[in-house]
Amino acid sequence: MKKTSLILLAIALGACSTQKEIVDIPIIFDEQRIELTKEYLLNRYKLDQDTPEITPKMVVLHWTAIPTLKKSFEAFNRPTLPNWRPDLVNVSGLNVSSHFLVDQDGTIYRLMPETTMARHTIGLNHCAIGIENVGGTEGMPLTKQQLKSNIYLVKYLASKYDIDYVIGHQEYTLFEGHPLWLEVDDGYRTKKTDPGMDFVEKVRKATKKFNFKPVPTKQ
Ligand SMILES: [Zn+2]
Repeated sequence: MKKTSLILLAIALGACSTQKEIVDIPIIFDEQRIELTKEYLLNRYKLDQDTPEITPKMVVLHWTAIPTLKKSFEAFNRPTLPNWRPDLVNVSGLNVSSHFLVDQDGTIYRLMPETTMARHTIGLNHCAIGIENVGGTEGMPLTKQQLKSNIYLVKYLASKYDIDYVIGHQEYTLFEGHPLWLEVDDGYRTKKTDPGMDFVEKVRKATKKFNFKPVPTKQ
């Protein structure tokens, strides 16, 4: 083979190795989940919609704190929260979920359509695409392969949608008072530590060219 053909081959192979596959393994999104999602949008955000669609403006990175792909998938699969009591009218029974789930080996799974609302970040679910990473427990930190896949996904999503922010779940309360923050209940907050600022900063650094907006600072 001539030298130029070898170089062309090397370029072609290089291009392929950065092109990651997204594997679709849909969670249950039946009539009940659709209705609960629309109810969530109405009750928590005052958004009265015919469909549970979102307009993506940000990507939120998470870890599942569950050590296996199977158990992480199972946590999101059922339409309702495990301990939901339908008689508690002001508490949404919609189960938590995420658009993407990245396994420890970096394999990217898509659990639901990118523009359907997932319940993963209080206040911001109407505009946030969620990426969950398997792990985050003491014995199972996030991996380099997961970091690479998160960078790939953020680039993919920012090329497809008008994404302004990339944040770690632990930063979400910094959006209180921001126009994107729509949660109606001032008492509804949970403290989050995922996925660690080191991971978030590495993703931001690798996606610098998209000029995402800085996360608001608390007054
Ligand atoms: Zn989270």
